[in-house]
Amino acid sequence: MTSPYEFTKEQWGSRLSEHPRFRTDQVWRGLWNEARELSDITSIPRSLREELVEEFASSLSIVSHVESDGGSTSKWAFLLPDGATVETVLMLYEDRATVCVSSQAGCAMGCTFCATGQAGFTRHLSPGEVLEQVMFAVRAAAPRRLSNVVFMGMGEPLANYSVTSAVLRRLHQDRGMSARHLTVSTVGVAPAIERLAREGLPVTLAVSLHAANDETRSELVPLNRRYPIARLREACQYWIETTGRRVSFEWALIDGVNDTDRALGELSALAWDLKAHVNLIPLNPTPGYLVRGSSKERVREFRDGLRESGIAVSIRDTRGRSIAAACGQLAYVTDGRRRAVSLRPRAESR
Ligand code: SAH
Ligand code: SF4
Repeated sequence: MTSPYEFTKEQWGSRLSEHPRFRTDQVWRGLWNEARELSDITSIPRSLREELVEEFASSLSIVSHVESDGGSTSKWAFLLPDGATVETVLMLYEDRATVCVSSQAGCAMGCTFCATGQAGFTRHLSPGEVLEQVMFAVRAAAPRRLSNVVFMGMGEPLANYSVTSAVLRRLHQDRGMSARHLTVSTVGVAPAIERLAREGLPVTLAVSLHAANDETRSELVPLNRRYPIARLREACQYWIETTGRRVSFEWALIDGVNDTDRALGELSALAWDLKAHVNLIPLNPTPGYLVRGSSKERVREFRDGLRESGIAVSIRDTRGRSIAAACGQLAYVTDGRRRAVSLRPRAESR
């Protein structure tokens, strides 16, 4: 069955072509402005509603829901119709509500420190499957307004380019979200960064850098062998020139690996050249990577070092760690019987 969010407005128009035109508007408004399930769009006649409920179904079934941080962080695991699973995280802050969506079930990029990378790739998600995660979060956040969408869940959004760009466009056009409040985080698929720059959608771009020399970066992020730092830098420059927007670099601090003074110097030089913002992420524990995150003290020193070099820098909070919902901890695997098994961190590294 098709997800109601898979259809564009034109497709709804054709599906409802035997009905008066305003029915399409009613369905559309119900789905997008009011974030209703089809069964809940009471402005349309009951017979039509029942017909549509028979024909369309959400592609997400909830398998689990966990909360932390006093209820302000929630993680859902969803089962998709073919048995694949994805996770979605909703974070409520004082001034905004952000959903972190998955763009793929699993990920093929194999970054060593990331639970999703450790679990491997299952498949790409469809536009409807990503959009439904957002609209689910819209409902879950109510009465708060969902203000931000970040592609920082499972998967590499730029490896599923056509879906990611379609979803961004539709969130902007159909849901009316500000492009600046849509953030794509990429491990550095250089040609896709350039392609996204040409889309004319001023979204926020975050690049998972983690190391500013090729040797270390290739160890952490295997894709660096294909698109080394010089190539990635070229793509970032193209992004800045084409969109007029800055990039931000994400850097998960790993004890003794990329938190050294040498690493600080290399990052400062690159971030300064590109006028990039740096977002430091305390490493979140994952089951398959036993290297420790940097101490809190080292994280602060590293931040201060960047500041002294004139770099704009922030430290990301570690929300959701206790429920394995923080950055890099999302991995939901199923066995043949479709019983979901969550990968939990072995230990908190603080
Ligand atoms: N594939 C994309 C987006 C999903 S990952 C990307 O890699 O950018 C979202 C962010 O979490 C990335 O910056 C990623 O590097 C980071 N991350 C992965 N594993 C992590 C971990 N164990 N601790 C902290 N951050 C991690
Ligand atoms: Fe994939 Fe991003 Fe995890 Fe790397 S960090 S394995 S690109 S999800």
